[in-house]
Amino acid sequence: MIMIKKLLLLFFILSPYLFSDGHIFVYHRFDDTRYPTTNTSTKELKREFEYFKKHNYKVVPLIDMVKKIKANEKIPDKWIAFTIDDGFKSFYTHGLPIFKQYNYPFTLFIAVKYTEKKYKDYVSWKQLKEIAKYGDVEFHTYGHGHYGQMSNEAIKEDMDRGLVLMKKHLPDIEPKLFVYAYGESDERVKSVVSQYNFEAVFNQNIGALNGECSDAYDIDRSALVGKAPFKLYLKFKELCGVSFEQPLTYPKDKMVRTVKITLEDKSITDAEVFISNNGWNRVKVKNGKIVYHANKRVKLNRIKIGVKVKNRIKLMVLSK
Ligand SMILES: [Zn+2]
Repeated sequence: MIMIKKLLLLFFILSPYLFSDGHIFVYHRFDDTRYPTTNTSTKELKREFEYFKKHNYKVVPLIDMVKKIKANEKIPDKWIAFTIDDGFKSFYTHGLPIFKQYNYPFTLFIAVKYTEKKYKDYVSWKQLKEIAKYGDVEFHTYGHGHYGQMSNEAIKEDMDRGLVLMKKHLPDIEPKLFVYAYGESDERVKSVVSQYNFEAVFNQNIGALNGECSDAYDIDRSALVGKAPFKLYLKFKELCGVSFEQPLTYPKDKMVRTVKITLEDKSITDAEVFISNNGWNRVKVKNGKIVYHANKRVKLNRIKIGVKVKNRIKLMVLSK
């Protein structure tokens, strides 16, 4: 009996280490210095992959991570998944050989128009067939437009056009996963996209996946661009039960005045709030409520607002 108690105690102490949050990373271009904000050098990619290998991270197909979330199951320790957005040719020429070398699964999300219209920076349908031997190919809109600025009809037209072309050129692939252009959406966009019955939908906010609380239709992915702080990203866990209440639209005068966030966990007393261009600010939490009179000016057309409690984090995006 004492033995069992000891074992239970040991399990209790070790459990945070046995189960951790999963992390999904997103890449765009490889060795393409013309676009520094979306480029990763293959030297850096190899450095990241060596780190993951040396520290026993388990690189799983994205769909395995999705299945855990949909089943509300804990994600085993050290699970990570790789995604690549847009379908740039530099993935085929520079990135793919390294993914093959490490035998790492990946999911490539394609913006169909650029392949269909043979833009020279994008992969061809033939190259996609070859890529699909090593990883999954999924859907990332037809025209890569800001869905938040498009009518419901225009969004549906874009989705339908892209999906029909994927079916025509890649008949063996049934798209199951979806990424919004720029990783952006809002409630209206989400409801239009939900009609397409994808198994999961992804954004591009730094964060982590808690199998038991993450939303399968708004999964966080951290971008690894340039020399990204991936070791810091790996330490993040998902802050569950966050409701962003204010602001919910991009401020027309570029001033973020009052930020209101509600946390489900009423025991939290201190947090940090993030506003693009302004970094993290310490705030007090009273009975799960954050009311932060920020009065911060923002410059970008796409701003992020986030909340962090120790290493638990949740971000959202507002775009112009
Ligand atoms: Zn994209």
